[in-house]
Amino acid sequence: MFENLTDRLESTFKKLRGHGRLTEENIQEAMGEVRTALLEADVNFGVVKEFIASVTEKAIGREVLTSLSPGQQVVKVVHDELVELLGSQAEPLKLDGRQPVVIMLAGLQGSGKTTTAAKLAKQLKEKGRAPFLVPADVYRPAAIEQLHVLGEQVGVPVYASTTEQKPVDIARQAVAEARTGHYDTVIIDTAGRLHVDEALMAELQEISRTVPLAEVLFVADAMTGQDAVTVADKFNTDLEITGVVLTKMEGDARGGAALSVKKVTGKPIKFVGVGESVEALEVFHPDRAASRILGMGDVLSLIEKAEAVVDQKNAERLAKKIQKNAFTLEDFLDQIQQIKKMGTLEQIMGMIPGINKLKQLKDAPKPDQKELVKTEAIIRSMTLKERRNHRIIDASRRVRIANGSGTSVAEVNRVLKSYTMMLKMMKNLKGKGIVSGGKRRKL
Ligand code: GDP
Repeated sequence: MFENLTDRLESTFKKLRGHGRLTEENIQEAMGEVRTALLEADVNFGVVKEFIASVTEKAIGREVLTSLSPGQQVVKVVHDELVELLGSQAEPLKLDGRQPVVIMLAGLQGSGKTTTAAKLAKQLKEKGRAPFLVPADVYRPAAIEQLHVLGEQVGVPVYASTTEQKPVDIARQAVAEARTGHYDTVIIDTAGRLHVDEALMAELQEISRTVPLAEVLFVADAMTGQDAVTVADKFNTDLEITGVVLTKMEGDARGGAALSVKKVTGKPIKFVGVGESVEALEVFHPDRAASRILGMGDVLSLIEKAEAVVDQKNAERLAKKIQKNAFTLEDFLDQIQQIKKMGTLEQIMGMIPGINKLKQLKDAPKPDQKELVKTEAIIRSMTLKERRNHRIIDASRRVRIANGSGTSVAEVNRVLKSYTMMLKMMKNLKGKGIVSGGKRRKL
């Protein structure tokens, strides 16, 4: 997500940091580079123009904050402006009104509507709601079938639409069935076309006139950049959308759609799809996305994810150890167990700020879950003394550990190497002031 833009902005700000004091000229020059970076990220031209004008004005007219260096101040202005561009704050779904709440998903074919419908149903179910999935794409029997399969996967009932029904009748009858079946959230998956088309719009408008829609979410493939924004604008004019879901964000290195759609349509991005699995849907947080764009990683997301499974005291203890360079193999084992609960290692690494710049990590082989299990076995075959001081693990101990864990000396070596690499990495993070006693770090 946003990698290209991040790289570009980072090098721009690095230059700024080299200046003790910033002149208007320095700022203008930096803004020229930011402008190019945004245009290369496929951000809407008008949006870029306004963005740069606003940042320049604020950066130049800014009062000097003694706690920040001039370079940091510019980064802060850009950060705040990016947050605003992305929509200021996360916009939750409107679920409190008349029940059942009806959510309609609309968008072009292949944008990810059906997948998003199932992902959304799963999230709502986990929050204690009773969702009901409704396939209203009567032109493609496969689309109805696809929603039935996904519904089963997420354990959410699916309305039995047929291709003989009219979409508006499906919507009306499904809402009635939701009332009698005590479902509180109806999610309607509509038909898509390859291009915006009047017949499709008329069909969607008819549904919106007939059933009370709490949300009309426009679903778009983020990878289509400005096209997604143009189509969103058209849907918003014809249909009055309430929010946007950008799918396939995990593969979108540029971010043009995400950065333009709120400004162009006035409607917030409510969710982003970050993978094909039914779990891969995230509430969109503008502040976190802005931090991510500026290369700060998604610290808050990481903390939230960690907090869900990691005991807070344990996390603090660990942060202290990192501070004191006292992170042992025993802690490493502890971490592996936490990581197994949290998701894949790569997902987690990606969220740690600054980590993509650590060369030793980039060059390191990507560990997979199987490797984690092996690593765990190897550390478990070490004595407590060895776990607390890896330096004593000589050749003969390595042979013993390999035998004990049913692995090879080469594999033991690999674990020790990745552990020492991790130690180095932690020192690096500390040097950058990123790890600080387990506290949340703000800009
Ligand atoms: P629809 O025609 O709008 O209903 O689109 P589908 O839900 O059938 O999705 C089209 C394709 O995009 C499918 O192969 C999905 O698995 C894929 N897809 C949907 N959302 C995401 C996402 O967030 N990330 C990735 N990588 N693929 C996605």
